[in-house]
Parts: sequence; C-alpha cells; structure tokens
Amino acid sequence: MRIATLLDLVFPPACACCGLPGADLCATCDGALARRAGPECARCGHPWSIAVDTCPECPPKIDRVRHALHYTPAAQSLVLALKEGGRRRLAELLADLIVATVSAPAACLLVPVPSTPAALRARGFNQAALVARALGRRWDLPVECVLVRGDGPRQRGASATDRRVQVRGAFHASPRTDWSPVTLVDDVMTTGSTLAACARALHAAGARRVGAVVVARACRHAPIVAASLTTAGRGATMDSSRTSRR
Ligand SMILES: [Zn+2]
Ligand SMILES: [Zn+2]
Repeated sequence: MRIATLLDLVFPPACACCGLPGADLCATCDGALARRAGPECARCGHPWSIAVDTCPECPPKIDRVRHALHYTPAAQSLVLALKEGGRRRLAELLADLIVATVSAPAACLLVPVPSTPAALRARGFNQAALVARALGRRWDLPVECVLVRGDGPRQRGASATDRRVQVRGAFHASPRTDWSPVTLVDDVMTTGSTLAACARALHAAGARRVGAVVVARACRHAPIVAASLTTAGRGATMDSSRTSRR
C-alpha cells in the first residue's frame, strides 16, 4: 500500500474549500469552480463577450497565457490551502484542473515563477514549482527552475502600478543559447506584472518565446459560471486554443 493511501486512512482528506471530509475537493465545491470557458482573447485567455485576437488585458512580453479557473472565492480557497495551508498534494489536483481546461503546449520548457526567498524560507516550498512538476508529468514536458528571484517588498495589497514597479528587475535567468520555447507556471495571475517581469528576464537571457499557464486568473471581466455553460460550448473553447498559438 502506498504511503499516501496509508496517510489517507489515518488522516482522511477534507475538502480544501468547505472542509467536508472525504476528498480534497468535494463535488459541490468542484461544481462551484468557474472554469475558463466561452469567448476569450486568443492571446491571453481573458474572457470577453466575443472572441478577439488581442486585448487590453494581454500582459506584455508574453505570447500566450492560459488559466484553468477564474479567481473566485472557491479557487482562492484551493490555492491558499496549498500555499498557506501547506497541503502540497493539492498541486496534483490543481494540475488536473489545468489539464482539463488548457490544451498541452507544444514542446517547451515549463518554468515555475519563483517565490521570494523570504516566502520560500517561511513555507519550505514553492507552490508554483509543485504545480509545474505535476504538470510536467501529465504533459510529459521538462521542468526547470531557471529563474532566480530577489527579496523585494510583498505584493499583497499593492496597487497595480506599485506591483509593476516592485517586480520589475526582481527576476534573473542565466543567459544560454539553447532555449526551447518557455511556458511559465504560476498559481495566480492578477495584473500580469509578475509574469511580464519573468518574461522580460527570460528574453534578456536569450529566450525567444515565452508563454504562461496559471491555475487561476483574477479577471476584471465578470467570470462565467461553469454550471451555466453547456458541454458543447466548453469543448469548443478548449479546441479553439489548440491550433494556432504555439
Ligand atoms: Zn467542498
Ligand atoms: Zn488578451
């Protein structure tokens, strides 16, 4: 019997959103997650009333962004249970949610967005790296932590402008000449300034193509509730992103 299975017998999992015993995510909370669906920006995945090629929400320096979930309270609970609650195996569940909604990128290197050194010391792990490794196993893609992050001010509560200033120059990657296309992996995207700063560092190190995949995205546009969408509509959205962008 696997150790994880044994641990489940001793400490049965509880839903990361509502605490109901039995599974890491109960059926009710799973149904409450707002998955990416409907018309969107082909470049950054932001939902719009009609499909568009690019939009004002596209972060600079990044070819393509895809998210699995809109950052609703349920998605926030999941992400925080991993990040702040230390429930590391939720990285597997979050990777499953990404795989169910985002088509696998073509051959590329998955690069997790690094935590600040202070956050890494406090938590003992980088949640984005855990999700990236779980994704790498599912998509059969290599994962490398090539970005280094300096200790800067925390972003929480900062304005969009302050965030951009705080993270600009916070990341560094060693120059190399053999870059595959890079797909950044992170748990949450808010303004996109962190991803843009990472992309800037990768471009400075010689990388030519940089995209990103995140678990949840805070969109200014109202999220589309998954339960209100038909299966056909959801499938069409997933396929629409598969063909041209990578
Ligand atoms: Zn629940
Ligand atoms: Zn866009």
